[in-house]
Amino acid sequence: MAYSAPRGTVDLLPQQTKNWQYLEQLLRTIAFNYNVKEIRVPIFEHTELFNRAVGDTTDVVSKEMYTFKDRGDRSLTLRPEGTAGVVRAFVENKLYVNPDKLTKLYYMGPMFRYERPQKGRQRQFHQFGVEMLGLENPEVDVECMVMAVTIIESLGLQNVKLHINTLGDETSRENYRQALMNHFKPGLNELCGDCQARFEKNPLRILDCKVDKAHPLIKTAPKTIDYLTLEAKAHFEKVCALLDDLEIDYLVDTNLVRGLDYYCHTVFEVISEDPTFGNAATLGGGGRYNKLVQEMGGPETPGVGFAFGMERLALALDQMEPEEEDALDIYIMPLGQEARDLSLQIVTMLRANGFSCDMDYANRSMKAMFKTVDRLQAHFAIIIGEEEVKNEVVNIKCTHDKVQETVPLEDIVAYIEHHLEGGHEHE
Ligand code: AMP
Repeated sequence: MAYSAPRGTVDLLPQQTKNWQYLEQLLRTIAFNYNVKEIRVPIFEHTELFNRAVGDTTDVVSKEMYTFKDRGDRSLTLRPEGTAGVVRAFVENKLYVNPDKLTKLYYMGPMFRYERPQKGRQRQFHQFGVEMLGLENPEVDVECMVMAVTIIESLGLQNVKLHINTLGDETSRENYRQALMNHFKPGLNELCGDCQARFEKNPLRILDCKVDKAHPLIKTAPKTIDYLTLEAKAHFEKVCALLDDLEIDYLVDTNLVRGLDYYCHTVFEVISEDPTFGNAATLGGGGRYNKLVQEMGGPETPGVGFAFGMERLALALDQMEPEEEDALDIYIMPLGQEARDLSLQIVTMLRANGFSCDMDYANRSMKAMFKTVDRLQAHFAIIIGEEEVKNEVVNIKCTHDKVQETVPLEDIVAYIEHHLEGGHEHE
């Protein structure tokens, strides 16, 4: 019986993990530069957490969660997004007791959504996300957006646009909700069953319905921006002014509402206009959530954050030539059993001295072993035959200048060190 990976999941093979490691390292470096610290939270949480935080009228909660009962009859869910768990941990561990007032956290890891798999859309996918908790200042919204833009720029991605919008504060949202209800009421029966249910509970969610997205009622729907209170308007204007000062290119997209319930004020998405991304053009998005910490049982603490889909960022890297040097230092080629025994000792000793090396265990021909040396781009080949074992020496061949020398066992490390550091000086 042959097994295949579950639908919507993929294996990342060594060829790809190289790019992923590069991507992860780049994200960690940028996080470090922004003084954003890593947090690691569980991959599953109590189902109720997501119902509450993400909102039970959202597609993510109502249709896409991997929810199961554990053996203790608890309802648990594989996390579909990162914010809920991070906010839960922030409250539970009292991270809000912070003299700096602003707590900046990032996470990286797998998320799970039961969606229809397609290019750039999986059931297990990865996100890199950032949450900045503690302050309501528009500067913090902008810091998040600048960080998102920096990530895109560091990956060398072209034709990417920052789309921004505002949902306003609670009063703005309530005014807007009323306006949406007035707008949709007369034509409600033309919308899908889900939208009819959303109408009473959360009409905002009608705007990101995948079924009705081309319906004229959605196209002509009122815009959040026309229902803002003065404070909400001032917040958004400040955000735009700060982005202008920093000369960050953005587009005010009044249709942008985001698919999760916790957002208020600023929302944003980073969208690629490059056709290779197809339907997966939204590389990431985020926004402000000022009530979430309180809803999770913590003190009133405003927050703002964003998440990128790492598969989509990795797509960009697939097109890039990796800069990273991953050649092995040494490959050992034993000829015969005794030479193999000695090689095992040498390979262990070389690794303990910090060299990257490997050896042949398969008793292959010299030719086959030299092919491996080429494939691995090893700097040195060490060749050991019966004679060498007897004389307690090895032959070291530099693959760059092809010079081969016989070296006593006790001098191997010094020899390799000398020639590696000297940049193969007999070249
Ligand atoms: P969201 O949490 O829905 O705002 O998603 C943030 C980002 O995660 C999106 O812009 C995508 O890049 C990525 N993403 C969301 N869902 C998936 C998925 N099913 N497969 C791959 N990437 C996804």
